[in-house]
Amino acid sequence: MAAKQKTLQDAFYETLKDVYYAERNSVRALRKAAKSAQADELKSAFETHAEESQNQVERLVQVFESIGKPARGKTCEAMQGLSSEMDEHLEDFQGSPAADAVLIAGAQAIEHYEISRYGTLKTWAAQLGYQDAARLLEETLAEEKKTDELLTQIAETINVQADEGEGEEQDAQPQKRRASGSRK
Ligand code: FE
Ligand code: FE
Ligand code: FE
Repeated sequence: MAAKQKTLQDAFYETLKDVYYAERNSVRALRKAAKSAQADELKSAFETHAEESQNQVERLVQVFESIGKPARGKTCEAMQGLSSEMDEHLEDFQGSPAADAVLIAGAQAIEHYEISRYGTLKTWAAQLGYQDAARLLEETLAEEKKTDELLTQIAETINVQADEGEGEEQDAQPQKRRASGSRK
């Protein structure tokens, strides 16, 4: 006979384990990003979110408790991939004018993964009648979205500086060769 059918409860618990692993991983990635960031505003955004993420890890422990299950992590290959990509890009672009822009891009990929996971988990928790879990997950989801928006906002300045080659010798003319319309 086939094994017992898996349920939405199982999916919820498995995904919770995934995000528990991913969240702990993101704390490390954010601390590293904070050390690597050049712009003060970006550095402090990463520091703030690293602290917030540490708190999100604690919040996940409360979610596990609220459903009466042990807090366990399960390797999240997506987060591993995203953070190793970020490391690789960091190395490639170290010291370049585009370094901070590249750092933001990597960090936003991580936030988007978290937003996807917490969005799903919150919705499943509500469906399953896990009211406390749903509320806790919603709190974290809001922080992830806020961080993503902040990074988008910081990127507006950073991208311009990256494109102008800030930090390099430049003459007073930031005019770019933009004549051919072939690029967006
Ligand atoms: Fe997080
Ligand atoms: Fe995952
Ligand atoms: Fe986050």
